[in-house]
Amino acid sequence: MSGAVGAGIRLVLLGAPGVGKGTQAAAIAGRVGLPHISTGDLLRTAIREGAPLGRKVAAIVERGELVPDALIGEVVEERLSRKDAARGFVLDGFPRTLGQADLLDRYLSGRGQSLDRVILIEVPEPVIIERLAGRRFCDRCGATYHARYSPPKVEGICDRCGAELRQRPDDVEAVIAERLKAYRDQTAPLVKRYRDAGLLVPIDGTGRPEEVFGRIAAGVPGLRA
Ligand SMILES: [Zn+2]
Repeated sequence: MSGAVGAGIRLVLLGAPGVGKGTQAAAIAGRVGLPHISTGDLLRTAIREGAPLGRKVAAIVERGELVPDALIGEVVEERLSRKDAARGFVLDGFPRTLGQADLLDRYLSGRGQSLDRVILIEVPEPVIIERLAGRRFCDRCGATYHARYSPPKVEGICDRCGAELRQRPDDVEAVIAERLKAYRDQTAPLVKRYRDAGLLVPIDGTGRPEEVFGRIAAGVPGLRA
């Protein structure tokens, strides 16, 4: 078990798409000074670079399907093996299946390491659908918006740079439904596994991000300010 902030900690964030895992993972990583490892970001980078692996991933993501375990495991292990992750990490989006959890266990135990906690962020599905379907982002400067909660001044146009806003292909409602089903089928079994292992910390993910972070910081040893 990790002690005070700075001692190093290995965390996994679990939760359906749209529960705010990325935001919370970044906040936690900032507090403990460890890398936020988002498989979404790792895969988007691979897609943008356009290598064969990235093209394969892009086709799968656009269909709303999950990337095969072996493929994603390869990408994540490469990232975990870098120096900045030696003391710990905040994993966001991995593991997503029991097979990926096995890969992670094997990777860590091979290095004499283990997870400290698995944080499960819970939000009702209707709230998730509204959150995701309204998301818009700017290709040019990276700004993000929400059609209802943080709209741009002019609909469809970035406040910061004037570029046209876009919706990610996987934020379209039909694809969101697929992603939620995939989560229920494939990721939900992880909850039982980590609860049985005594690692699970369930967190109410409704409300403002700062409120959710407060709940996480109060519930996870090593994160209290
Ligand atoms: Zn912009």
